[in-house]
Amino acid sequence: MQRYVYAFGKGTADGNSSMKEILGGKGANLAEMARIGLPVPPGFTISTEVCRDFYANNRNYPDGVWEQVDEALAALESQSGKSFGAGKSPLLLSVRSGAAISMPGMMDTVLNLGLNPEVAEGLIETTGNARFVWDLYRRLINMFGDVVMGVDHSHFEAALDRAKEEAGVDLDTELSAEQLKAVTARYLEIYSEHTGEEFPTDPRDQLKKAIDAVFQSWETERAVTYRKIHKITGLLGTAVNVQTMVYGNMGETSGTGVAFTRDPSTGENVFYGEFLMNAQGEDVVAGIRTPRPISELGGELEGCNRELLEVRDILEKHYKEVQDLEFTIENGTFYILQTRTGKRTAFAAVRIAVEMAEEGMIDKNEALMRVDPAQLDQLLHPMFDPKADRSPIAQGLAASPGAAVGRAVFTADDAEEWVAKGEKVLLVRAETSPEDIGGMHAANGILTSRGGMTSHAAVVARGMGKPCVAGCGMLQIDGAAKVVRVDGSDATFAEGDWVSIDGSSGEVMIGKVPTIAPQLGGAVETLLGWADEVRRMKVRTNADTPEDSVRARSFGAQGIGLCRTEHMFFGDDRIPAVREMILANDETGRRRALETLLPMQRSDFEGIFTAMGGLPVTIRLLDPPLHEFLPHDDEAQQEMADRMGLTLAQVKDKVESLSEFNPMLGHRGCRLGITYPEIYDMQVRAIGEAAVNATKAGVKVLPEIMIPLIGTDVELGILRERAVAVMEAVFAESQTVDYMVGTMIEIPRAALTADAVAKYADFFSFGTNDLTQMAFGYSRDDSGSFLPFYVEQKILVEDPFVSLDIVGVGQLVRMGVELGRKTRPNLKVGICGEHGGDPASIQFCHEVGLDYVSCSPFRVPIARLAAAQATLRDDL
Ligand code: PEP
Ligand code: MG
Repeated sequence: MQRYVYAFGKGTADGNSSMKEILGGKGANLAEMARIGLPVPPGFTISTEVCRDFYANNRNYPDGVWEQVDEALAALESQSGKSFGAGKSPLLLSVRSGAAISMPGMMDTVLNLGLNPEVAEGLIETTGNARFVWDLYRRLINMFGDVVMGVDHSHFEAALDRAKEEAGVDLDTELSAEQLKAVTARYLEIYSEHTGEEFPTDPRDQLKKAIDAVFQSWETERAVTYRKIHKITGLLGTAVNVQTMVYGNMGETSGTGVAFTRDPSTGENVFYGEFLMNAQGEDVVAGIRTPRPISELGGELEGCNRELLEVRDILEKHYKEVQDLEFTIENGTFYILQTRTGKRTAFAAVRIAVEMAEEGMIDKNEALMRVDPAQLDQLLHPMFDPKADRSPIAQGLAASPGAAVGRAVFTADDAEEWVAKGEKVLLVRAETSPEDIGGMHAANGILTSRGGMTSHAAVVARGMGKPCVAGCGMLQIDGAAKVVRVDGSDATFAEGDWVSIDGSSGEVMIGKVPTIAPQLGGAVETLLGWADEVRRMKVRTNADTPEDSVRARSFGAQGIGLCRTEHMFFGDDRIPAVREMILANDETGRRRALETLLPMQRSDFEGIFTAMGGLPVTIRLLDPPLHEFLPHDDEAQQEMADRMGLTLAQVKDKVESLSEFNPMLGHRGCRLGITYPEIYDMQVRAIGEAAVNATKAGVKVLPEIMIPLIGTDVELGILRERAVAVMEAVFAESQTVDYMVGTMIEIPRAALTADAVAKYADFFSFGTNDLTQMAFGYSRDDSGSFLPFYVEQKILVEDPFVSLDIVGVGQLVRMGVELGRKTRPNLKVGICGEHGGDPASIQFCHEVGLDYVSCSPFRVPIARLAAAQATLRDDL
């Protein structure tokens, strides 16, 4: 018989932390904590394999599951000497979900299972605490009703609010036993009104239904959406953890809390968390009572605080990783209910990895592997300009760092709708719930008036890397009227108004506060420095201006891998000359226009060479179809007619004659260089003269002339010869400078015949944007109409323009490298398509032996780390 149930108890467990796949994260860690002797309330885990088989069998449970649950329950009863849902000292249970990857707020929890009127009376007798028992009972009905039977939580909430109002109190802890008993009775009525049945009194029936509800919740819309957004695939399902209840709501020496072993927002090595006295688990994150900082726990219960600090230390040393833990104190006895790897911001992830390495807990390589390169993106996004006037109207908790600016919307659905229409929005809610996940993902940032640092909004925003200000209690959010008022001031804002939030300081501003580019520093620099020591591939950048070049260097770029010269043709001072060149009827006319462009190009290149100070600079000769530069409206056409002494009709004719059905496959790239050689001649001369001038000015230069869109070796042979001739002519006028001539490999035929192409190339640079376009036959500019559908339908695993299609396009790259190096063993090979900044693609580039990757300036740090990780994986 297959094993489906794994027990954990005092000092022993059937499972351990390596069994996440079948026990889920929560179950595996409960087992591990029990093993290492931490005070975990005993229980058992029903494996994820049950979930898998359940869905595989049309929602039928595999044989033997319920028998194994009964056996495990019997064992729990005999160990504790208590009976489940019976007797004066009954065993009560909690049921919680837990998949291998934690999905906060996505799955459901039911506490206090096993209560019925008879058991309640018995428990009141033994504990002498009626208030406590009715509090348990009303929570059971609420959670069971909500999670198992789908009775909306708000019905219960409203009844509780009414009871508090009638009693004239603010907090549920202030309700008396009698009042809570009445609330319980009312809850039972609400339950029957909405379900049409009585609340189950049979404990086993309760337990079975709760377990079933957890398995059913695996396929709810919000769980499916969460997995989609976070690209979680390949899990068997959720496990279900059934555990002995311990009670944080027994009175003033009881309580419950959540904590991180280090600050998950900044990464600082300080214990970080919140607790509530006389409360049950859900209260801390529900945002109804405001939790207290963990540093105050010692003042309440010194011994328990000491135990908690010890557990913090033991867990972090044991897992060698930041832990996010939950604890409960029952009448002065400390229990640990959960531990898992703490979700953290990108900045915290870096700082924690670096500091753990410096503390000697892990080594540098481990630290490098700990940080997800894609997460670094968050650190590279804008922050508010420190010089800008902020005038905050309110202050909340700095729940997830970064600057966000957007127009206020008040529901998650609105956020999604507005963003679909091209708006930037900020989601403003009293608190968020798992149903809001889509809107949170769409919004630039999240602002809530309730809830603490571990509230749903805060946890989810940190995971997504979205700026979030939480618990901003000064805001009075009127969700119906869609306006926000601020306590103690006359500031207000309404739907559609621009609002800025600073997730690093907790400030809220009306209007658009200007943002600036971020700066790397501290731990990030340290980590990237370690990455540089490890990685084999170099990292260059795609940059067309001195400013971009300078920024990329500050991010660590080791050269320019692609300077697209066409971007230099668009300035107001240049476009007329460019147009004149294109519209000219003969070579003489073209040469005249090119004369005007030469000095401009030369100074462009001088600027870039200077900015790069001796690092290699790959300059690509003109690539796009000529008609992209042409004047298309009457006014611009007339201007050209005047400039060139032509009639408007003549200009129109010429423009017409240059239009193409398939410009991407038309007269572009090296084909222009072959048919209008004087264009490339001018560009090569500009490169040569700029190199000479820079050298004379004492700047070291390493120009690499790159010819785009080569399909045959013959094309490259012709163009290389011309380029070399122009460079030699320039050098003959003054002095010689070292340079290279190479090509982009972006047409499949060039990859297939790379051995021949390499005869004329000192280097290859894979233009994987075009290579993907041409290998798939998907237009780069038109694929938006079907690619998202393809990805959604899993026809493609990923958008191949974002992450290299290793199976197909990757073969062309691999073949290109191998064939090219067969002809020229020292051929330098890189990539300059968008994929050069994508971690998975960078891994592949490393594997096929590329010398460098080149990506946009902001992705340079990502590429440095991803290249280091790829090198480290060689030894795994
Ligand atoms: C490419 O095709 O991958 C490339 C880098 O060139 P462009 O994007 O300019 O076509
Ligand atoms: Mg290209």
